[in-house]
Amino acid sequence: MKPKPCTAFRRIFSANAAYVFLAGGLVVGCVALAHCAGLTICPVKRWLGVPCPTCGATRAFALLLHEEIRDAFELQPLVMALACIALPLLLMFRIVFGKQRMRKLIATASKSPTFWCIAAFMTLANWAYVIARGN
Ligand SMILES: [Zn+2]
Repeated sequence: MKPKPCTAFRRIFSANAAYVFLAGGLVVGCVALAHCAGLTICPVKRWLGVPCPTCGATRAFALLLHEEIRDAFELQPLVMALACIALPLLLMFRIVFGKQRMRKLIATASKSPTFWCIAAFMTLANWAYVIARGN
């Protein structure tokens, strides 16, 4: 008899999610290689001379891998907050409440002007912080 695969694992990592995860890993790998080679890969920083709202995210993830959590949050607070707090919370919500409730939550949030105002404010505040810090 064939063993049943874990349904929670299957729900989270559907085929599409696996492709997105692989593509994201490929992008992160290329960015890490470019960073190790000393290249500035951010087009905004390269062409305008000003860091973009996500500048420093790769270095922050590298710091996170070395368990330097405080330095990672100081370098790129918004991306670290999304990766370390919001993403795990969304994954837990998805596991506990399922796909339909997750879709409903996303649909509700995407239609909410309050959500978009908060997201825009957080992005602009993070961008000002990144520029002031000189990432
Ligand atoms: Zn950038």
